Amino acid sequence: MSIMPEKIIDFHVHLFPDRMFEAIWDYFYKYYAWDVKPRLYWKQCVEHLNACGVEKIVFSNYAHRAGVARGLNEWNLDVLKQYPHLYCFAAYHPADDDGLEMAEQILEYERVIGFKLQLLVQRFYPHDERLFPLYEMVMKKNKRLLLHVGTGPVGNEFVGASHFRKLMERYPELPVNVAHMGAFEYAEFIALLDCYPNMMLDTAFVFYPGIEGSFNLGGEVLEKYRNRIVYGSDFPNLLFPRESEISGLLSLGLSAEFYTMIFHDNGDKLIKVHSGA
Ligand SMILES: [Zn+2]
Repeated sequence: MSIMPEKIIDFHVHLFPDRMFEAIWDYFYKYYAWDVKPRLYWKQCVEHLNACGVEKIVFSNYAHRAGVARGLNEWNLDVLKQYPHLYCFAAYHPADDDGLEMAEQILEYERVIGFKLQLLVQRFYPHDERLFPLYEMVMKKNKRLLLHVGTGPVGNEFVGASHFRKLMERYPELPVNVAHMGAFEYAEFIALLDCYPNMMLDTAFVFYPGIEGSFNLGGEVLEKYRNRIVYGSDFPNLLFPRESEISGLLSLGLSAEFYTMIFHDNGDKLIKVHSGA
């Protein structure tokens, strides 16, 4: 009997309009020599993941500069309308004059779970005070954030556990998913779970076996915090097959409860809380 639940929920999928996807893949290749595979466009991604048994997809995109969040969010709503099993962390940029108004409007849509901030690319601090009204709105409207705020796979001055801690000290109740288990500062981020009840981690891209920088704290701590972790793939911005990360997770030999919770139940619970579904 497989310990993998039959239906899984993927809480970290990237969907972008086709041209933006191409620009991102080219950028990754040019600056980091990352040859993204598979280069699937957004509709192909959805169909591929469906065929792999993904029951619900929580996708995101981010505004790499001011002025693009509104357009991306119009696109996001259109995607949500086409696929009822999709949910979205919408785009936001604090330098947009109409940002908060746009944020308020998009949060009216049930399947918008909240916002994604990609601090490495967007180049501001998570504790930037321009973001405070957004955080307050997210809490008031019972939504959530997805933050790429770790130092992996590359870092800069805007990411890292110390910046994230500063944010959480100000907003201890903030509902937030930290992408990539907080890579590479795994221990620092995990330690914060005890202090901040609405903080979760996602598994995206850090359970590939044999890759430098992969999660390295062992299974015991994962079991201990199994109600605080959701599965995410980072699909389709991958360098290796999505399935090898799933095998990496399964090869840890953890409990059936662990796998049911991270691959399905925890994500399902978050979706219910934040979308009313
Ligand atoms: Zn990602």
